[in-house]
Amino acid sequence: MAARFKAPRGTFDVLPSDSVARARVYSAAALAFERAGYGRIETPVFEETELFARGVGESTDIVQKEMFTFQDQGGRSLTLRPEATASICRAYVEHGMHTLPQPVKLWYWGPFFRHERPQSGRFRQFHQIDSEVIGSDSPLADAESIVLLSDLLTELGVPGVRLRLGSLGSLETRKAYRDELRAYLKEHDGSLSEDVRSRIDSNPLRAFDSDHEGTQEVMQSAPTILDSLDSEDAEHFEAVKRAVSDAGVEYVLDGTLVRGLDYYTRTVFEFTSDSLGAQSALGGGGRYDGLVAELGGPETPGVGWAAGIERILLALDEAKEKPTIDAFIVAPDGQRERALSLATEARRAGACVDLDFAGRSEKGQMKQADRTGARRAVILSEDGSAKIRDMQSGDERPVDLEDIAGEIEREARA
Ligand code: AMP
Repeated sequence: MAARFKAPRGTFDVLPSDSVARARVYSAAALAFERAGYGRIETPVFEETELFARGVGESTDIVQKEMFTFQDQGGRSLTLRPEATASICRAYVEHGMHTLPQPVKLWYWGPFFRHERPQSGRFRQFHQIDSEVIGSDSPLADAESIVLLSDLLTELGVPGVRLRLGSLGSLETRKAYRDELRAYLKEHDGSLSEDVRSRIDSNPLRAFDSDHEGTQEVMQSAPTILDSLDSEDAEHFEAVKRAVSDAGVEYVLDGTLVRGLDYYTRTVFEFTSDSLGAQSALGGGGRYDGLVAELGGPETPGVGWAAGIERILLALDEAKEKPTIDAFIVAPDGQRERALSLATEARRAGACVDLDFAGRSEKGQMKQADRTGARRAVILSEDGSAKIRDMQSGDERPVDLEDIAGEIEREARA
């Protein structure tokens, strides 16, 4: 028996009916980045495993549990990228982008891979829009990034958007805070989940992310890092908050915002949508002032975010849409070749035109025109004459066949 295959667990096919809404998200993102002076970058789908171990952090869930890692024929360990920032910082260092005028603003759209438990809004291959501003420590760069994502979500019409904003302080502040948090967790270790307890030493901040009831209770009274910020970090954070407010973007302060990646310093933020279920995060990011140096480059600050394209689409709950067709050409058998020539001519003039290749009768072709959602039908007759029909109103009028391509194109633009 012939074998039948399915897309691997946690992956999905983007079908034509999904692609209109996706293209709209892409265009809105591309325009928003272009307006703000970002250039588009593309990096490979896989990288050396070590890049993510260093860049994302050895003790993170991503590195410990979620990477698709494999050996190539030369015995090198490679990993399908689970996120974009480490790759983009690698490219920044590799191409000496620190010699360009700073900051370098980059954006990205593409697939990412994490071995997670598939559920609504959580996949093993998903897609992200990614934004990075590398080479500026200005709090205004943080604010610009946040406002850009906020405006993009507004522009797309994503409902129920909320922004949580926090600061993790500098690496030193975070280190001192971690010690304080470790001591607190050890005092309460009887109530913590096994998982959190086993990571008190390696990654105590993750306790804030736990969905274990006892842990959550303990964390409600835990010291938060917002109380531990030194004066420079606090000043930076104040300036970010001011600029975000000035742009009219509302936020809620959240001292427990941790995010699952180790490289963040100072500002962290996350956008959620009330219209999503358990996986409510639309996107998030923050500042990563130590990352470029960690990856072998000069000390270089940076700030960025990633937003999940499937999550945005899920929140938008867009009806499946068909690509728009300006005209469907209906032809009797004797006019089929002519129909293709006319379609080609009209397409060259910029119109979206389709026609029948299934040998349907003229009546069948009219039905097909309707099914494709075409706005008009151009109906050819055996005698070489033609009329154009508005599929909605049913109005028909004759058209000069010599100029039919121009007619379709003009009507498409009307
Ligand atoms: P992160 O890099 O984990 O902060 O992810 C950024 C955004 O990507 C999240 O807010 C989600 O919208 C999206 N995302 C992350 N992981 C997945 C996944 N497994 N499936 C679908 N979307 C995801």
